[in-house]
Amino acid sequence: MQDKYSAVWVSHSSMGDFLKCPRLYFLHNVYKDPATGRKMSIVTPHMSLGIAVHEVLEGLGDYPAEERMSRDLDADFELAWRGVAGKPGGFADDTEEVAFKARGTAMLETVKRDPRFLINKRIKLKKETMNPNFLLSEDENIILNGLIDWIEYLPETDSLHIVDFKTGRYEEKAGSLQLPIYLLLCNALQKRPVSRASYWYLESDKFVEKELPDAESAYRDVLEVALKVKEARVRKVFECPQGAGGCAQCRPYELIIAKDPSVQYVGVGGFKQDMYVVQKV
Ligand code: SF4
Repeated sequence: MQDKYSAVWVSHSSMGDFLKCPRLYFLHNVYKDPATGRKMSIVTPHMSLGIAVHEVLEGLGDYPAEERMSRDLDADFELAWRGVAGKPGGFADDTEEVAFKARGTAMLETVKRDPRFLINKRIKLKKETMNPNFLLSEDENIILNGLIDWIEYLPETDSLHIVDFKTGRYEEKAGSLQLPIYLLLCNALQKRPVSRASYWYLESDKFVEKELPDAESAYRDVLEVALKVKEARVRKVFECPQGAGGCAQCRPYELIIAKDPSVQYVGVGGFKQDMYVVQKV
């Protein structure tokens, strides 16, 4: 029987870290503070904005389609914001927090003006205590997991439309593994085919439909990176490709480990990691 605890778990975020730099992957996904036994994560205002907006929009999926747009989204946002407000949300001061919150409010105005697919039937992947997941490779004991923001059911073709909400200003890079991963998750965890995939950039209200990869190449591309992650974990080698000079990607984590005074501990996060705000990068 498969042992989920000894498997190597990979996701869009952890493989994204690995592709940026194996040491960054180590610092964010492997290293545990010897004092707390927990991994470390860094909170930023951008991340907090994303968490609050996602909470409101994904939360709509808990209500019947016809009731969703009669909800008070501003009240839902106020509630979600409480979870990220102040220092624990990574905000340097009130001015910064107010500016980020206003961006979230504007995104929800966009949704209210035109909720697009949010008023249609939604499908959810099976999720217990862990994110939806499946065995990507039985031989290698690698599990792929991920949370898809929204899966719209398309009755005319009895198929699915994957949608990812984007709260940042930058567009997802070409070659991103996000859609291949979501396609594999949908194919493994439910029976209907995926026929569409889109990114919704909420700040600009830009809705970008993406070409779906074929399942075979999605599997090949994701497995290729997952195997590299596994190999690095087995060899325990997470080298910095920059050499001694280093770069900005891992500096905040190194500051946390060095207990630099610019680092502030803000509590334990949703995935039981130690959360920090780092002012100096
Ligand atoms: S400094 Fe080196 S180890 Fe850190 S993220 Fe940059 S390349 Fe990776």
